[in-house]
Amino acid sequence: MECFDVIIIGSGPAGTATALNLLRADPALAGSILLLDKAVHPREKICAGGLIPHTLDCLNALEIPLSVPHVQVNRARVQALPGQEVVCEEGGMCSIIRRNEFDFLLVRTATERGAEIRQGEKVIQLVREPGGIRVMTERTTYHARVVVGADGSGSRVRRQLIGQTRQPVGKAMMADVPVSETDWVGFVQQRYDFNFLPVQDGLRGYLWAFPCLIDQVPHVNLGIYSLGVDSLSNAALQDCLSAEISAFRTAQTSGQTRRLRAFPIYGYAPERPLAAPHVVLVGDAAGAEPLMGEGISFALEYGAFAAQAICEALRTKDCSFDAYTRTVVQSWFGKKLARLAFATKLFYGRTARLWFTLAARSTRLQSIGLKWYNGVDGWHQRSGWDAVRAVIRRYPQQP
Ligand SMILES: Cc1cc2nc3c(=O)[nH]c(=O)nc-3n(C[C@H](O)[C@H](O)[C@H](O)COP(=O)(O)OP(=O)(O)OC[C@H]3O[C@@H](n4cnc5c(N)ncnc54)[C@H](O)[C@@H]3O)c2cc1C
Repeated sequence: MECFDVIIIGSGPAGTATALNLLRADPALAGSILLLDKAVHPREKICAGGLIPHTLDCLNALEIPLSVPHVQVNRARVQALPGQEVVCEEGGMCSIIRRNEFDFLLVRTATERGAEIRQGEKVIQLVREPGGIRVMTERTTYHARVVVGADGSGSRVRRQLIGQTRQPVGKAMMADVPVSETDWVGFVQQRYDFNFLPVQDGLRGYLWAFPCLIDQVPHVNLGIYSLGVDSLSNAALQDCLSAEISAFRTAQTSGQTRRLRAFPIYGYAPERPLAAPHVVLVGDAAGAEPLMGEGISFALEYGAFAAQAICEALRTKDCSFDAYTRTVVQSWFGKKLARLAFATKLFYGRTARLWFTLAARSTRLQSIGLKWYNGVDGWHQRSGWDAVRAVIRRYPQQP
């Protein structure tokens, strides 16, 4: 049986970031880290591909230039209240990539730096054994001192080694439409659109329109995010997105149908364990942010935290990972996730109208909220009181 110090299950952004951070912290680990993935890169991933500015900071820290095609977004249009729309302009709000290209870039970089990857190899069972975990795949069996669960929302690692807990599972559904088949001017305006109006009809989420390039052809990625639980049925989500797609199309193309693709999103909850002896969770397996469903920047951050904890465990030979959950929860990153989880209660609850009205009235609140969310100017690491003080200093302010 082959043995590795670290087996990372899943080679999306969370898995590759864990490998890259491990190799950065300890280059001697090259050759003892194995990434396993059931898919083969470049693989399709159902995702809108929006990278907030903080994601680019994470890539910079890993010395990975964004060398895949991307569309830069400098403007946002937000509809939250009937008859009202807010437009924010700010350079470099978002970079939109395609996940097949982006994830392949991360995987190539990780393997160039010393990680080994075996693709098309699905993990089917994980069992505790002395000194680590036995990892059984469709092809063979391995032993790992540490297993990293980077296997996304439905994480087998989480279910088999940590125990499934009932958590809000959101869902996102999307379709790509060539811009030439629409009347949409967002692509040329370098704009993305968010539509929260369906919150009034019971959706705990929003509709989006992102500009993107597929094989160099301008497209609009249209989607709907739903936080699930008490939210709308699948059919209702499909109807809502289909109506949105029709509204974007020109009269000539409005009859054509598009394939809608959906994927679950497992929301972060601060009370949930993220580790067990010999096991740590990262990325969507640990929990994505539940307000907007953004997960790529968090996946990269989880990778940095996990790598630190794993290096320490291998050095001290204590693989209990007792402190991992606490470290994540108490970090700026865990606090940001917890605040976003709390924000779902405000924006998708009974008081939604009040919060959307406040947000629409104050350009200062919009600017600071956006900077905090995007991780710009260090706002993501500042306290909530700093943000409140900064907003109140100039409040009220009319757009
Ligand atoms: C429709 C949609 C739109 C989204 N839009 C955005 C966006 O614009 N911006 C953003 O930041 N986030 C977005 N997200 C969220 C984002 O896609 C995730 O947060 C992100 O992919 C998490 O990365 P990850 O590495 O944790 O997991 P994943 O990217 O899901 O990677 C998990 C990997 O594990 C592999 N795997 C799973 N099970 C096994 C197994 N048993 N054996 C071996 N391999 C396995 C999979 O093949 C996969 O490669 C969106 C999600 C959806 C569904």
